[in-house]
Amino acid sequence: MFIEKFKVDSPNVKYTDSHIESSYQYETTELVHATRDGASEWVVRPKTVQYNFKTDVRVPKLGVMLVGWGGNNGSTLTAGVIANRESTQINFIDFFFIRGISWATKDKVQQANYFGSLTQASTVRVGSYNGEEIYAPFKSLLPMVNPDDIVFGGWDISNMNLADSMARAKVLDIDLQKQLRPYMESMVPLPGIYDQDFIAANQSTRANNVIKGNKKEQVQQVIKDIREFKEKNKVDKIVVLWTANTERYSNVVVGLNDTSENLLSAVDRNEAEISPSTLFALACVLEGVPFINGSPQNTFVPGLIDLAINRNSLIGGDDFKSGQTKIKSVLVDFLVGAGIKPTSIVSYNHLGNNDGMNLSAPQTFRSKEISKSNVVDDMVSSNAILYEPGEHPDHVIVIKYVPYVGDSKRAMDEYTAEIFMGGKQTFVLHNTCEDSLLAAPIILDLVLLAELSSRIELKSEGEDKFHSFHPVATILSYLTKAPLVPPGTPVVNALAKQRAMLENILRACIGLAPENNMLMEYK
Ligand code: NAD
Repeated sequence: MFIEKFKVDSPNVKYTDSHIESSYQYETTELVHATRDGASEWVVRPKTVQYNFKTDVRVPKLGVMLVGWGGNNGSTLTAGVIANRESTQINFIDFFFIRGISWATKDKVQQANYFGSLTQASTVRVGSYNGEEIYAPFKSLLPMVNPDDIVFGGWDISNMNLADSMARAKVLDIDLQKQLRPYMESMVPLPGIYDQDFIAANQSTRANNVIKGNKKEQVQQVIKDIREFKEKNKVDKIVVLWTANTERYSNVVVGLNDTSENLLSAVDRNEAEISPSTLFALACVLEGVPFINGSPQNTFVPGLIDLAINRNSLIGGDDFKSGQTKIKSVLVDFLVGAGIKPTSIVSYNHLGNNDGMNLSAPQTFRSKEISKSNVVDDMVSSNAILYEPGEHPDHVIVIKYVPYVGDSKRAMDEYTAEIFMGGKQTFVLHNTCEDSLLAAPIILDLVLLAELSSRIELKSEGEDKFHSFHPVATILSYLTKAPLVPPGTPVVNALAKQRAMLENILRACIGLAPENNMLMEYK
């Protein structure tokens, strides 16, 4: 059964006009290595830590500024949100407003939806009632920004308006595009920071809309853009997200970008090795605006992370976890969790969109290869019965540019695993779908969850003051291929664990226990 919303009735939870406060017992374990009678043994002690959460329920008017707004992802997301808005169309037969746009395809009349969005189209189990499981929308856990109310803007090195960008992307059905065009024609990206050293040379013909000046001036311009956008659109908060082209990795050099001071003075000296994405991220951190990186490059050089931590400004990334990697982080988790040993993982992709063209250069491909390569590490290292220390499955990534297939990316994966008594099991997967239709709902989730997490404060026992989450937003890991974590924090790639972490933290904010699937009521 499905319920739209619910309220928690508990002595540990308080609802006020401005906040939801919860008092929460975090059940965890503590490991001790002891020596008894000359033999060493591990002792595991259950441990309970008291936490208090305080969530501001006053949902702001949100501005979302995308870097690479006119790209396939940027234009598809903008179009998708407009298409889903309430009151976009009037149904003249019944004389009432209906939700969103519908359009004719060769199969049926299609209605706009948010399929693929965790916040808008997935549910959580909230309990059982008369023996029936009760589910509620994920977004009902805590008050979140309604996508209808987001104001979109952003930057692109191409000056094409969003209606033409949508046509250039060739992602959405033509009947839908025709209906959206009037809403999108007047949307024109601000000039972006173009540095041909960081993206493929084949992008140069697109770059007709660029911020002039040295790196310091470019950062100042981005800050000015953010302030003006906020003022003009009367939004309370801004989130910036990089969905521009994949850059090559920046070299991390002592004295250049290794500390916040060195990074800031390197920008002052106009050092060549500071990438456009790092400059955008820097502007956001200086302005206290959350910045999320949806591409694989190392935008977050150590100096940038250092600055974000010092200024307590949210950063999150890297690289949207949309298709192939999402399946990989489910399949390998299942295999290793079942005691089966994956020994070879080979992933081929071909795609024909501008992202694919950019990735056809070796340096940008290398960024993607790195981001796709480490996604099974946590699962492999969780099972020393299967793998010797340091042992790892062969893992090969191939990406080819094939213009004809456009945004409809093909991903072909072969997994070989060792099973009982020396047997081998091979799985082959073939996935075809529009890449941007997978990425757009993920971008929406990233900005909504980043905004929400900035309204949550917590304190654990012994702390006298509430504080925000760590500025490196691990809470967004479910949505990213190579989750950025603070130094000394475990990286979790397994998809089910990432979802459980996010859901259980939001549940804790309303005083609900983690979903444990024990169903003791029925045992
Ligand atoms: P795209 O090439 O269609 O769009 C990128 C846009 O960024 C272009 O319009 C380009 O003009 C603009 N741009 C490039 N450099 C810029 C800069 N410095 N400043 C401002 N604008 C700039 O690509 P896409 O398909 O929209 O993908 C965007 C990014 O998302 C890529 O890096 C891709 O690897 C990453 N990504 C996509 C998916 C997916 O499923 N679609 C998954 C993971 C990651």
